[in-house]
Amino acid sequence: MSSWKDVPASGGLPPYRSFTGDLEKPLLDERQYRMIELQNGVRAVLVHDPGADKSAACLSVAVGHTYDPNDAQGMAHFCEHMISKGSEPYPEEEDFVSFITTNGGARNAATGPVITYYWFSINPSHLEGGVSRLAAFFHSPLFTESLTAREINAVDSEFKRNLSNDVRRILQLTKDQSIPDHPWRKFGTGNYVSLSAFGRKGKDDDEVMVMKETRRRLVEWWQEQYCASRMGLAVVGKESLDDLTAMVVPSFSKIENRGLEPRPALKEPSWGPEQQGVMMFVQTVKDYHAFSVQFELPDIRDQYDSKPTSFLAHFLGHEGRGSICALLKKRGWLLDLSAGDSGDPRAVHLFKIEGTLTLEGYLHYAEVLKAIFDYIALLRQSFPLDPYHYAEVSTMARTWFTFKEKAQPHAYASSLARSFVEPYPPQWLISGASLYRKYDEDFPRKLLDGFVPERTRVLLMAKNHREEVVGKDPQWASEKWYGTQYIVRKLDYTLIKRLHGQETNAELFLPAPNPFIPTDLSVDKSEVAEPKKYPTLVKRTERAQLWYKKDDQFWVPKARVRIVIKNPLTYATAKHALMTRLFVDLVEDALAEVTYDADLAGLSYSVSNDVDGIVVSVGGYNDKLDVLLRTVLEKLRDLVVTPDRLQVIAEKIKRDYENYYVGQPSSLSEAFGQWLIMPTLWTPADKLTELPRISESDIQRHQGDLFAKSTIEVLMTGNMTEERSLSILAMTEEIISSHPLLPNEIPTSRSLVLQPGSNYVLRKVHENPKELNSSLSYYCQFGESSNIRLRGLVALVHHVIREPCFTTLRTKEQLGYVVSASIWSINSSTLGISIKIQSTRAPWFVEERVEAFLETFAEERLLSMTEAEFETHKEGLIMKKLERAKNLSEETTRYWTRIRAGHYDFLRHETDAAAIRSLTLSEVVEAYNTFLRPSTGLRSRKKLSVQLISQQVKETPESTTQIQIIEDERTFKAALGCAPAAVPVMSEAFGQYAHTGMSAKL
Ligand SMILES: [Zn+2]
Repeated sequence: MSSWKDVPASGGLPPYRSFTGDLEKPLLDERQYRMIELQNGVRAVLVHDPGADKSAACLSVAVGHTYDPNDAQGMAHFCEHMISKGSEPYPEEEDFVSFITTNGGARNAATGPVITYYWFSINPSHLEGGVSRLAAFFHSPLFTESLTAREINAVDSEFKRNLSNDVRRILQLTKDQSIPDHPWRKFGTGNYVSLSAFGRKGKDDDEVMVMKETRRRLVEWWQEQYCASRMGLAVVGKESLDDLTAMVVPSFSKIENRGLEPRPALKEPSWGPEQQGVMMFVQTVKDYHAFSVQFELPDIRDQYDSKPTSFLAHFLGHEGRGSICALLKKRGWLLDLSAGDSGDPRAVHLFKIEGTLTLEGYLHYAEVLKAIFDYIALLRQSFPLDPYHYAEVSTMARTWFTFKEKAQPHAYASSLARSFVEPYPPQWLISGASLYRKYDEDFPRKLLDGFVPERTRVLLMAKNHREEVVGKDPQWASEKWYGTQYIVRKLDYTLIKRLHGQETNAELFLPAPNPFIPTDLSVDKSEVAEPKKYPTLVKRTERAQLWYKKDDQFWVPKARVRIVIKNPLTYATAKHALMTRLFVDLVEDALAEVTYDADLAGLSYSVSNDVDGIVVSVGGYNDKLDVLLRTVLEKLRDLVVTPDRLQVIAEKIKRDYENYYVGQPSSLSEAFGQWLIMPTLWTPADKLTELPRISESDIQRHQGDLFAKSTIEVLMTGNMTEERSLSILAMTEEIISSHPLLPNEIPTSRSLVLQPGSNYVLRKVHENPKELNSSLSYYCQFGESSNIRLRGLVALVHHVIREPCFTTLRTKEQLGYVVSASIWSINSSTLGISIKIQSTRAPWFVEERVEAFLETFAEERLLSMTEAEFETHKEGLIMKKLERAKNLSEETTRYWTRIRAGHYDFLRHETDAAAIRSLTLSEVVEAYNTFLRPSTGLRSRKKLSVQLISQQVKETPESTTQIQIIEDERTFKAALGCAPAAVPVMSEAFGQYAHTGMSAKL
């Protein structure tokens, strides 16, 4: 019998207790675990991973925004922002972010309805400093007064960023439609108004006093809600368990226990009679049609060992033959479907069946509902169920857990810390969320009994609702915070009656046994002294090139195959690019019914279009991998395009392309900037103009052209022999049998080159008139990617400016919620650094602030940087470069990225780390002054910015001679030269094929 053992205080370490049992863990998990509980009630799991090349920690608090005061909504979220910016031992507001970033880590936090969590990752040698800082947030936060006003602004900008986000809008609307005064209705994000209104007495309030009051309420709320007993901590590091214990116990024991309930839960349902049996029509910002059928669930926290909602979701969300999804797709009404529970069992827990509809599906929404309720009735009548259903679901969950691979340490720490709020016994902390332990048919049956039209809430979403659906002159109501327009009506009696009708529908039936369930899970494990660093080229012909690496470190019964079928017609014109996209979407559409079984059995695939060809990926348990790959390849070759499916897919693509331009301003300004330096680029707008002219015969002809001539490049990794990889290649070549491309027909990509002294600005207006935010992308090109020293410089300059850029422009100047610096690598041909800022301020003003930052950063930070600080930066960056792949998927992606880039530089991270190590501070200063700093780089900088302007911006920019406005994008691009395309640099990777005269280019 496992239990807890008291560990008395010793050597300055406060007392705690330790769990004596073993935690149930995946087969391959060789890490050691210790679970402890501190005297104040903080529970912690310590994970000793001797091989960790990055450490991490996460702390969860079992309270969230549903505990906000009624008159101060957003308080939990505001607390999350404030608490990490200054504590008694570490008073500087940027101390934490600066410490983490410099040492190669990352950090973040999130506030949910009933949980808030904080995580960071870091260079393993600095874990202790990170842990000590994390603990200090909770035992002695400062909630600095001078920060209050600025941080409310940050919350307000975050809210404004989400204003046009339909997911957020709809979530808040559905929460708002709860019974009056239910805590679920609270406005979780909060904004300037919700966090300051309570401090106001009249119109002419002194803002300083209002902020003082906000801070006073914050501290008061924190004292009422944050309590040691509500906290769960996970720490992953390479220190021994004893050392990790000694690191955690003293600092986390300082957190106060205020005697609060450890896992508070909302007890009352959020729906009364008024909120059930209703239909809600909702207007969206983006143009699409969707539905959501919802039921409120009872408290099922104790059912974690039988997982009744996941079991029901298996049927209701199924996409194979006989499913709701398959039927509605066949009618031409549905694009995608999902089912499952959402929310949080400690707060409000809903079961949802939802999907995206075509326009026809929207108009036939009553029939869509009919199919759903028919299936629910069918499922209800099918009890007791055939035993194979549960056997398949529980076996696949067990298999998944058994062969679960390592994740990124911060993601792992977060999932462990969050599991502390679940009711699992200690030994199941790791496995509790994954495993089915018993079959209980009563519970799902009972839930299904409640899935009736009188107890549902149906949402129907559209940008422009039709009269035939909502009636003539409907009265729209407006949600308080986001202004979402909606109508709520009781479900029509005749519709309810119809949904109850029990005529059988022969097209609906439960899933048949799944042929893809793997049976051979053996792993071919042979000890190796050292894992190989890259794949080997095992076959090369005029038509195909096969890269292969047998797994030699993860030892899972899994494999991955990536194939690119290259052809210059894939992207030759906008029309070709569009036809390729339509073609791959039609292939995925046609495969959906068959491949869903594979997906349930842990085998996934994708088919996508790229600028040089079509990419096919298959991965998962290796046992039946070839069967799935054959199915996918044959569909690529044999697809018959029908007018009805083309119409459905074309409608979807049309909306995707149109909605693209009303997206997040910061994403758009980034894209517009990158497009300007790509020689060939077909925009969504270009493709949209071609869409009305494309017929099924066009696509059928394009399919023939794509496979008449092609060159194939393949990567296979994992639990498979070289022989098997060769036979999979042979199968691929047999199905896609084509003539090889001429060497000069193989597409290559390059980047345009800006001239030294450039100071270009492209101005565009955001298409959504209601979007409040503008965005700036401020880019400086450094040079060619093939230059090793330059790659090191770009990486190091980026590493040193990341945190100050964020701290200055977001935390101090409060320009907006989205502020970041990133590296742009254009077609593996050029490199540069971009700063993007989404802001309600005019983008030319923001550009001035960026330039001011680039100057002050040089004067105040870079020029005064000590050698020791510089070395810390280098070490942090080198650690990141040399980080090992954590699982087979990450390893495969790394190799594939280098193959696809065309440089085949599998050891690039090592080369770059060595280059960074050799760089001096003066070289970095010189690069900064030459390529980034406006005052010193007047003649040398290659700068380009995109100012994406919100229609809400009323002022106009002053004209200046310093910048060059891009009037015509085509002429601008035509005047620029190109940088070289990537060429193979690692001849040793080509092995026996290195000197055959073909090695210059594939
Ligand atoms: Zn936030």
